[in-house]
Amino acid sequence: MSKVSLRRAVKRWYRTYREARMVALALRSPSHPVLAHVVVTRRCNLACTYCNEFDDFSQPVATDELLHRIDLLAKLGTTIITLTGGEPLLHPELEAVIRRVRDRGILAVLVTNGYLLTVDRIQRLNRAGLDRMQISVDNVQPDATSKKSLKVLDQKLRWLAQFAEFQVSIHSVVGASNDHPEDALTIARRAHELGLTSTAGIVHDDSGSLRPLSPEHQRALEEIERLSHSRFSFVQHNPWSRNLVRGLPNQWHCTAGGRHLYICEDGLVHYCLAQRGHPAIPLHQYTREDIERESKTVKSCTPYCTIFCVQRVALFDQIRANPRQALAQLFPAAGPEGQKVSPPGAVRILQALFAPSRAVPGGRFFRKAALRILKVD
Ligand code: SF4
Ligand code: SF4
Repeated sequence: MSKVSLRRAVKRWYRTYREARMVALALRSPSHPVLAHVVVTRRCNLACTYCNEFDDFSQPVATDELLHRIDLLAKLGTTIITLTGGEPLLHPELEAVIRRVRDRGILAVLVTNGYLLTVDRIQRLNRAGLDRMQISVDNVQPDATSKKSLKVLDQKLRWLAQFAEFQVSIHSVVGASNDHPEDALTIARRAHELGLTSTAGIVHDDSGSLRPLSPEHQRALEEIERLSHSRFSFVQHNPWSRNLVRGLPNQWHCTAGGRHLYICEDGLVHYCLAQRGHPAIPLHQYTREDIERESKTVKSCTPYCTIFCVQRVALFDQIRANPRQALAQLFPAAGPEGQKVSPPGAVRILQALFAPSRAVPGGRFFRKAALRILKVD
């Protein structure tokens, strides 16, 4: 086993432990943010035509200010921080920010277009303690809509497969390319060929709502979800996506502003990238009361929302409120064509611990012991 593989394996197990702890904390308490997106620079080196999250002139957010924002989020009890942009690799001291996230015991995630990755930068991210990278690839060949193509990024993906000690997930946006709906599937297959994981999002409009998908796009999305087998992945079991690809609304309660925070470059808290301007309170003034109030606020944009990370976060509260019903609804035993569906391992463990179908001898003892091991007792 090479040194990189060994370090990767050790880090994977430790990360899994910390992820399990994050889930246990989310199920235990409703009054801390599970996930925060933090913009480190609004500037991007690309200009995808569907994107409204970038400019080509902003300066990076000052490092001291970012470190302060990480500390404030840690004080609120945040368990995952995703550094985003614009293009976060344009920030000259990104590694210092990642290190602070890890020092505060928080899972560190990075969203990038990957253009600026080099072997040296990957190794610096390893050393900083990055937990997970999500790299977006939109098409096979660059086109007028997006330059984030497999053709340009394939070398970067090979470097990641060889050198990254963090988890790498290739994200393709179904519907981003109208001319080549099969591209998203080609990208997901390449990710799996390289031993990386893949996820798929659905292109959304400026308010975060679904744009109608063609039948070809629908087929591509379903096939990618079938490919995305993972012990801990919720992607394959994404009930919101299943409805949305068919143009059907979802019924769920969005807890953005409470369980999910989006911190813009000016340090204001927003619901999500698509609903900026609400509540737009400075992070340094944000309190537990704000978290609790915004978690309860009903948002009119929920039925056709495509912001899957916020939906996954809301899942924890659904499970906490009514574990058995939520798990049965979200992870039905049979798929749409009647096929047997097995939920991800993490969900099965949660089911056994928090919503057992029958009383298990010593169940309370094991639940208590699990919470102790995860240090959430
Ligand atoms: S790379 Fe990302 S941030 Fe930059 S323009 Fe494209 S979608 Fe927007
Ligand atoms: S439902 Fe929530 S996550 Fe979705 S767009 Fe609205 S505020 Fe954002």
